[in-house]
Amino acid sequence: MTDCLFCKIVAGEIPCDKVYEDELVVVFKDIKPMAEVHLLMVPKQHVASLNELHDEHDALLVHMMKTLPKLAKAQGLNDGFRTIINTGKGGGQVIFHLHLHLLGGASLPGFA
Ligand code: AMP
Ligand code: ZN
Repeated sequence: MTDCLFCKIVAGEIPCDKVYEDELVVVFKDIKPMAEVHLLMVPKQHVASLNELHDEHDALLVHMMKTLPKLAKAQGLNDGFRTIINTGKGGGQVIFHLHLHLLGGASLPGFA
């Protein structure tokens, strides 16, 4: 996708505060953190949202889920963390390249 912010970050065309990268994902700090720790996990492959998932993405999804607790521990979140995936305009999604929010730390707000 040529006009996708997160594709540009993955390609290194736009800078980010990167904390982790492997063959499938890039993880960087959210530019407008909502908690003490607020990371975004972005697949290198462009997938617009959960609505665009197919069987071919199964391995990627498992990889993303299993990488989350490792990242949380590396960030010192030994007490737990929150994961959010906004899907579609009605779900609050602003950037249409699938991403997982990983939040945690002292300033994590209540969820109600
Ligand atoms: P969503 O509402 O789930 O689409 O969330 C998009 C998130 O991307 C928001 O939390 C933004 O603060 C974050 N964001 C937008 N632009 C950047 C950027 N250049 N670097 C890091 N995070 C960003
Ligand atoms: Zn993209």
